[in-house]
Amino acid sequence: MKIRYFDHGATTPVSREVLEEMLPYFELQYGNASSMYSLGRSAKKALEQARRRVANALGAKPKEIYFTSCGSESNNLAIKGIAYANKEKGNHIITSKIEHPAVLHTCQRLEKQGFSVTYLNVDQNGFVDLEQLKNSIKPTTILISIMFANNEIGTIQPIEQIASIAKKSGIIFHTDAVQAIGNIKIDVKQMQIDSLSLSGHKFYAPKGVGAVYIKEGIDFEKIQDGGHQENDKRAGTENVAQIVALGKAIEHIYEQYDEYNQKLTNLRDFYIQQVEEKLPKAKLNGDRKKRLPGNANFSFPDVNAQELLFALDQKGICASAGSACSTGSEAPSHVLTSIGLSKNLAYGTLRTTFGKDNTMEDVAFLVESLTQIVPSLENK
Ligand code: PLP
Repeated sequence: MKIRYFDHGATTPVSREVLEEMLPYFELQYGNASSMYSLGRSAKKALEQARRRVANALGAKPKEIYFTSCGSESNNLAIKGIAYANKEKGNHIITSKIEHPAVLHTCQRLEKQGFSVTYLNVDQNGFVDLEQLKNSIKPTTILISIMFANNEIGTIQPIEQIASIAKKSGIIFHTDAVQAIGNIKIDVKQMQIDSLSLSGHKFYAPKGVGAVYIKEGIDFEKIQDGGHQENDKRAGTENVAQIVALGKAIEHIYEQYDEYNQKLTNLRDFYIQQVEEKLPKAKLNGDRKKRLPGNANFSFPDVNAQELLFALDQKGICASAGSACSTGSEAPSHVLTSIGLSKNLAYGTLRTTFGKDNTMEDVAFLVESLTQIVPSLENK
């Protein structure tokens, strides 16, 4: 059976050029980047090339990029690191109710350690309330952390406006850009972003490698003790092969950005148009325009999304009920609840996230499958 993969928001396959670039670093160029001899020095050189590639993609300086093991670690390092280093200035942090658990749970831990956190509401399309943001700022606010684009409903936040609100009050601004990198062009300097996290497996590098940009001059503490790697900010022998892959992947995706973005937008818009025409009860979640190019999220009333996923899987279709990280959770997604969806709709929600190898024919097959399956599951 042909597998049709529509879950690129959960993870992407490793692309061929990325795989080829990383392979020598397992077997031939296996040196430790901290070693002095030539094998070590060439690993270090590869590491620094990857750092330059990430920096170039973001409009940052190479010394502002720190490699980590994933997007979750990047968020932990940025948020905890900045909070700990700036606690003399204040203990208040502002974030939103629809962040990924890597941000929400980090903030909840900080609350247990004496920080106070405001969780901003979002409207029905998932946009943060900018008035509430302005009104929540206190003299003790040290950090605002708002995700660039939501992993479930795809809504892209008004990041420049948020950054400028933060800037005016002298507050550090962090954004979780794990879903945005590869899908949106981001220039951290132009957008006044102080800190940003990303993860390789969302743009065709392997799982288990990430990076965080933290602007030069911003104080942050390391949160993992050990060696002096990553400018003494992230202890642990660098995962050279995967960092090489991340560098290649980010460079490659932005080289073809226009083409890639257009392709994903076309697939998404075709899918949305078809679902709305053929399954008129379906409700699109997230903003219609300001959404990730590859993301579509529909709620089907009176349908259990788990049963829907199972039936799609029988046809070789991979999609998701919410985000991959909420799988197994009984409660409806906090994102869908925050945008005001009823339980009935939240439990019937299907996220499809398109990628570079999907075709229109694949999407037509998906729509055809949904038109067969969805009515058969209603009120079952
Ligand atoms: N932030 C967002 C918005 C995500 O979608 C994800 C993963 O899906 C993460 C953070 C965590 O990234 P990682 O899986 O690399 O830990």
